[in-house]
Amino acid sequence: MKPSQVPIVFKTRASLRRHYDRFCRETRITPLERILLSFSRRLFFAALTVFLPASVAAPNETIVFGADWHFPPHQYLNEEGHPDGFDVDIFRAIAKAKNLETEFHLDDWRKIQDKLKTGDIDVAPMFKSEERARRFLFTDSIMSGYYLLFARTGSDTFRDIDGIHNETLAVQRGGYAWKVIEPYRHRLNILETETESEALWLVAEDKADLALASVQLGSYIIATRNYKNIVSVSPPLFSAEYAFAVSPRKPELVDLINDGLTEIRANGTYDQIYGKWVSNLDAIYKAYQSGLFHSLWIILPLLAVALILLFWLVRFYTQLSRTKTLSADLQHRALEAEKKVEESSRFDTLTNLPKKYLFEGHLKDVLNALDVHRHKLAVASVGITDLDKVQQIAGYQTADKLTRGVAQILFKNVSESVFISHFGHGRFGLIMKDIANERDAVSKLHKIIGQAEVQTVINEFPINVSLSSGLSLYPDHALEAQELYRAAELACDLSRIKRNSLLVYEPNMEPDPRNLVLISDLREAIKNEQLHWAFQPKYSLKNKAVIGAEMLVRWDHPRYGSIPPNLFIPLAEESGIIHDLTQLLIRRAGFFCKQWQDQGYALELSINVSGNDLSDSALITWIQQSFIGMTDRLTLEVTETAIMEDIEGILQTIKKLRQLGVKIALDDYGTGYSSLVYLKRIQPDELKIDQVFIKSLPDSPEDEKIVRASIELGHELGALITAEGVESKEVLTKLEKLHCDAVQGFAIEKPMAVHEFMHFWHSGGLSRRES
Ligand code: C2E
Ligand code: CA
Ligand code: CA
Repeated sequence: MKPSQVPIVFKTRASLRRHYDRFCRETRITPLERILLSFSRRLFFAALTVFLPASVAAPNETIVFGADWHFPPHQYLNEEGHPDGFDVDIFRAIAKAKNLETEFHLDDWRKIQDKLKTGDIDVAPMFKSEERARRFLFTDSIMSGYYLLFARTGSDTFRDIDGIHNETLAVQRGGYAWKVIEPYRHRLNILETETESEALWLVAEDKADLALASVQLGSYIIATRNYKNIVSVSPPLFSAEYAFAVSPRKPELVDLINDGLTEIRANGTYDQIYGKWVSNLDAIYKAYQSGLFHSLWIILPLLAVALILLFWLVRFYTQLSRTKTLSADLQHRALEAEKKVEESSRFDTLTNLPKKYLFEGHLKDVLNALDVHRHKLAVASVGITDLDKVQQIAGYQTADKLTRGVAQILFKNVSESVFISHFGHGRFGLIMKDIANERDAVSKLHKIIGQAEVQTVINEFPINVSLSSGLSLYPDHALEAQELYRAAELACDLSRIKRNSLLVYEPNMEPDPRNLVLISDLREAIKNEQLHWAFQPKYSLKNKAVIGAEMLVRWDHPRYGSIPPNLFIPLAEESGIIHDLTQLLIRRAGFFCKQWQDQGYALELSINVSGNDLSDSALITWIQQSFIGMTDRLTLEVTETAIMEDIEGILQTIKKLRQLGVKIALDDYGTGYSSLVYLKRIQPDELKIDQVFIKSLPDSPEDEKIVRASIELGHELGALITAEGVESKEVLTKLEKLHCDAVQGFAIEKPMAVHEFMHFWHSGGLSRRES
C-alpha cells in the first residue's frame, strides 16, 4: 500500500484525546502507562496552540532538509522516488507557513547525520538524545515515540533488554536504539542493519529472532508490508522526543521552525498530517500481545461514540478494572526501570567505564584509607590528543569508535590496582594504587598508554592515536581528591599543548598570571606597532638563487626581552588578538613588497596566518588593500591542523584568495594528519616539509623515505616543495638529489632584519652556503 493511501483519519481526534486524558487522570495511570499515551498528550498541546498568534513570515531562504531514505512513516523515498512521510509533510507545512524555500535530501542515515554536522544539511528530524543534543540544536518536539521489540508470533515476550539471551537481535546501525543499547551490545547477538525496516524484514524472513524498532515504524511496516507473522513482544523499552535537529551553523532556524510549528498546530495542519501518517493505531494495537498496550482504550471511546454506546461502555469498565490490577505490576516495573536508568547514569554508555562521579567517590574512599606517611598513590588524566579534530574531519562516529578503541586498550592494560574511568570527550581518569615513587608511576602509566598509541584506520581514515597524559602524586602534590585530579588534568593539558605524551605535575605549571600581562602588553605592542619583522631567505635549488623570504614576527618586550613567537602566537590565538596581529602583518608585508617592486626586485613574500585568520573574510579585504597589483607575490603559510578547525569555511576563503593570485603553502607538512583527502581538497601551491624530517636527513633512512614520498606526492599535486630547517650542507646536497625545489634554514641564513636581507640578496645570497 502506498503511504498516501493510509486511510485512517480520525476527524474527532481532538475531542477523543481530551476525553481520554481525563480518563487517565481519573484512573491514576502510572508514568509507564503514560508513555503509551503520548499521542494524546501531544494532541492536547496542539489544541492549546490554536489560540496562539501566528508569527511573521521570514524572507525567502533555501533550507536543506535531510532525512533517512527509508524510515517510514517518518521519512522515506516513496515509490516515485520522492521524499514522503510525516516529518517531510510537517516540514513542508512549516516551510509554507514561514515562506521558506526548501530542498530535500534523502540518504543513508549516517551520512545525513554527518552532513548535518558539517552544515551541508540544515535540518534533519530525529529522536532527541543527550548525546545528539551535544552535536545539534533541537527544535520543540514534533511528537513522542518509543521503542519495542518485535518478533514472530509465538515467540517469548521480553520485559527488557536484559531478558535477551541467545536470540539474535536486528538493530539499525547508528540509529537511536543503537546508541541506547550500547551498554548491552557486547553481550548481545546483534545483526546490524542499514534501516529499521530491514531489521523487521530479517525477523519476518526468520533471519533474526528479534528486531528493535520504533513503534511508529514497526506498526507502519507491519501494516504496509502485511507482515502477519510479526508482533510486538515487549512493553515500551525506552521513549524519546522526536524533533528537528538543526545544524549548529544555522542557530536562527530553531526559532523559525518553532514558530512555524506553532502556526501549523494552531491552524490544524499538524493534526491533519498526524492523522494521515501516525494515527494508524489499529495496526499498533494488533502488534501487541503483551497485554500492556492500551491503545485499545483510545479506539474504545471513539467507537463508543460512533457505534454501540452501551456495548463499548461495558468494555470500557472492563478495561478500567484490568488497569487497576495491572498497576501494581507496572509500578514494580517502573521502579526497576528507574533503577536501571540510575545504573546507566553511573557508567558511560560509549565505553562502559565508570563515569566521573564514581571516580571522584572512589578516589575519596581510597584516600581516606591511606596513611600519609606510609602510602603513595598516583592519579592520571589521559586524553586523546586531537579528538576534536578527528570528529570534525571524520565525523562523530569515527571519533566515538576511536574513543571506544582506546578505552578498550587502556582497560586491557590496567592491572587490578588501577581504577579507570571515562569522563567523556576522550578524557580518562586513572587511580593508580600501590605506587612506590614518581618513577614507578611514570613507568606504569607509560606501559598503560604506550600500547594505545598506534596508527589505526577507521572508515578508511588513517588516524595516529596520540594520547596526552598528566600525573599527580599523593601526598606530594595534594592530599585532597579534587586537588589531586585537578593537578593531573593541568599536567595533561600542558602535555597536549607541548605535544608531550606524559608530564608529571609541577607547581610551576599553574596558570601563569604573567600570561595575562603578556596578552595585554601584546595588544599594546600591536597598537603602537612595536613589533618588528625578520626575513628568512628562501633559496631555490633549481635556479640556484634566493627567490624570496618568509616574514616572521619579532617582539622585544620592554621588561622580559625577546619573546619567541612560539610563546606569544598561541596566546594571541587564544585571546583573539591574532586578528589584529595578522592585520598589522599584512599591512607591513604589503609595505615591504611595494618597496621591492618599486626597486624592480621580483621577490616573493611568505607570511604565516592562523586558522582563525582564514575563517575571517576580512583577511581578503586586508590583502586587497595592502597588495594592490602585487597579490601574486604573496604566499600564505598555514598548517594543516589550523585548516581542519573549519575546513569548509577556510576552503571558501582559499578559493577567493586564489582568484586574486595569492598562493597557499601548507606549513609544517608531516606533523599533522597529512591526510590525502585534505591535500586533494586544499590543492596547496607549496608544501613545506617540517624541520623534524629534515634535520637528520642524512642519518635517518626513515626520514629520507618520508621526505622522498612527500616530494613525489607534492610534485604530483603540482606543488612547489620547500624543506625547512636545513642546517648543513650535507642535508642541502641530499635534498638536491631528492629533487626538492627550495630550502630554508640556517645553512642558507637565519631570519634577519629587512635591510640585512636586502644586503644578503644583493650579495648573491650564497656566501654562507659556500663557507
Ligand atoms: P614556522 O612558520 O615553521 O617558521 C619557521 C621557524 O623555524 C622560525 O622560528 C625560524 O626562525 C625557525 N628556523 C628557520 N630555519 C631554521 C633552522 O635551520 N633550524 C632551526 N632550528 N630553526 C629554524 P620562529 O621565528 O621562532 O617562528 C616560530 C613559529 O611562529 C613559526 O614557525 C610560525 O608558525 C610562527 N610565526 C612566526 N611569525 C608569525 C607571524 O607573523 N604570524 C603567525 N601567525 N605566526 C608566526
Ligand atoms: Ca611558516
Ligand atoms: Ca614551518
